[in-house]
Amino acid sequence: MDLKNILAYQSVDAKLFDLENELSQDQNKQKCNMLNQTAKSSQQKSSQLEEQAGQVLREMDELKKTMDVTIKKGEQLVSTQIETLSVDQLNEKLALKDKVNQNLTLLDKRLTKLAENINAILAEFNRTIKVYNSAKQDYQKFRAAYDKHLAEVQPKIDDVKKELEKLQKTVEPKIMQTYLAKRADKIFPVLVKLDGNTCGRCRMELSASAINKLKEDKILQCEHCHRIIYFD
Ligand SMILES: [Zn+2]
Repeated sequence: MDLKNILAYQSVDAKLFDLENELSQDQNKQKCNMLNQTAKSSQQKSSQLEEQAGQVLREMDELKKTMDVTIKKGEQLVSTQIETLSVDQLNEKLALKDKVNQNLTLLDKRLTKLAENINAILAEFNRTIKVYNSAKQDYQKFRAAYDKHLAEVQPKIDDVKKELEKLQKTVEPKIMQTYLAKRADKIFPVLVKLDGNTCGRCRMELSASAINKLKEDKILQCEHCHRIIYFD
């Protein structure tokens, strides 16, 4: 197997690998990814808060209904003509009235607590929206900076890709396919030279029989780093 052409391909591909890395390591791009994440989690949080607020509001409605019923009960107790009642009946009525008043106080406390809850939720909601908006704004800024960098690098990438396309035609399809599959997995360099009796990349030592096989086939996949070790 002649490895000359695939090695020539790889040396040009190294330029593409560097350019791609330059873009993926771009600080503005990384900042954009981060801000995107922030915007997404703020969105999630705000819809959670909306749901929470809805629940509290429903609870408040229920509570108000209960309070109305309790207030009416109290009014009915008062409206009864007390002159017609015996002392026992009157005492019973007064005890009942106390009970209603106690219930009303408890309900009122609960309502206040719910109102506090809803205010806290709304405050948190406003904070979340602020975080979301500022993430969106910052994103635009960093995105513009990244786009500028991209506009510089993209023509270089296009040129290298054209060169690679030409070279690809000179390479044996089988090894090209293996190469491209590994390259797609972000393995680079794909082909590494045998160094003594170790993989030229990860330094894994090869057995004598593996080296014999390598010398025969010219290439062998490294069991450790999965690169293609070649011998020449
Ligand atoms: Zn290796």
